[in-house]
Amino acid sequence: MRAAQGFDKLGKSYLFSEVRARKDAFLKENGGTLIDLGVGDVAFPLPPSSVAAIVAAAEEMGDNVRFRGYPPEGGYDFLRQTIAEAYAEAGVKISDGEVFVGDGAKSDAAAFTTLFEPCEVVIPEPVYPVYLDSALLCGHRPLLLSGSKQNGFLPTPAALKGKEGLVIWLCSPNNPTGAAYDGAGLAEWVRFALDTGSLILFDAAYATFAGDGMPKTIYSVDGARGCAVEFGSFSKFAGFTGMRCSWTVVPHEIMLEKRRLQALWQRRQAAEFNGVSYVVQRAAQAALSPQGRRECRVVIDTYKRNSCVLGHIFQKHGVWHTGCEHSPYLWFECPRGDSWAFFDRLMRTCRVVGTPGVGFGPSGEGFFRLSCFTTPEIAREAAARLDSALPSCM
Ligand code: PLP
Repeated sequence: MRAAQGFDKLGKSYLFSEVRARKDAFLKENGGTLIDLGVGDVAFPLPPSSVAAIVAAAEEMGDNVRFRGYPPEGGYDFLRQTIAEAYAEAGVKISDGEVFVGDGAKSDAAAFTTLFEPCEVVIPEPVYPVYLDSALLCGHRPLLLSGSKQNGFLPTPAALKGKEGLVIWLCSPNNPTGAAYDGAGLAEWVRFALDTGSLILFDAAYATFAGDGMPKTIYSVDGARGCAVEFGSFSKFAGFTGMRCSWTVVPHEIMLEKRRLQALWQRRQAAEFNGVSYVVQRAAQAALSPQGRRECRVVIDTYKRNSCVLGHIFQKHGVWHTGCEHSPYLWFECPRGDSWAFFDRLMRTCRVVGTPGVGFGPSGEGFFRLSCFTTPEIAREAAARLDSALPSCM
């Protein structure tokens, strides 16, 4: 028996496992503490509305009559409906049956890639590494599109002239760069996908971080229903990284030759997924209530303010950076080019951990990401350390 061929093509380890390993090795050798702005995990607890919903749902699960067993693999109707209503409020028509509840945008994204025969998968990078890893594991042929300072880290379909039938990942607002496509930028991709029989897989995990006037869903663009699947997550929006809840929208009209894509996803989920727990789905529903959303907004705005606090330091030292506007990340040019070497220097000099840009794709080399999912106090402490030590890291 042999391991699947895709494993030969994967990097040695998953990016964030490597970040953790280097951090742990440093602490073992040097002791003390580090400010960890590496892995983008949330810093604040669940919104109180979700906590109340968890308690109520736990009571139900302990009751002879109201107890529930296996959840439906596509999600409970109450959550599918609530998500569809949230789209309706944004002026987008999505039916409950087009929404599939999952246990994380990471697993949804990776699983979705298995629906296709090996094909060309377009990945504008630097970007969340899961698209590339999952494409390689499925035997797809990745086609990397390079983001740069020149194109604002927002590649366009211009480089894909003559190509057809592509699977195209778009992540907007982008992790790690914080760049976000505006309506015109997304419309260009949608037009390209419709013209070439391609499918867009749109990762909207950071939609609630996008600034005013920016699209929060690809379905705000005309024609997107005909060519785009959207992935949403409660992780960054409602602090659910430890709860695990997400959704995928698969519009009814999208066909893969003669087969309905929605039916394929439904079939795949039925075959390989057993749903998200009742308690978690009730908590997610509560996060989308008006009160829950207000609670989430306060936390999201705090993370965004953190990125401005850090951004100010890079501004002061004349270091090129982005990220404050549409994301909880700060993305900056490493002073000396090699982003893993900068990772080590920053850790040694400031005792601050970040993520080397090259881990998000070859075009990330020479750049660096700091996660702003932290408290304002820690963000200020990190900013102070960077302010005094940045010149010596350069
Ligand atoms: N998509 C992007 C762009 C992300 O950055 C992340 C997590 O960092 C995810 C998806 C994963 O989300 P989830 O926690 O729902 O699996």
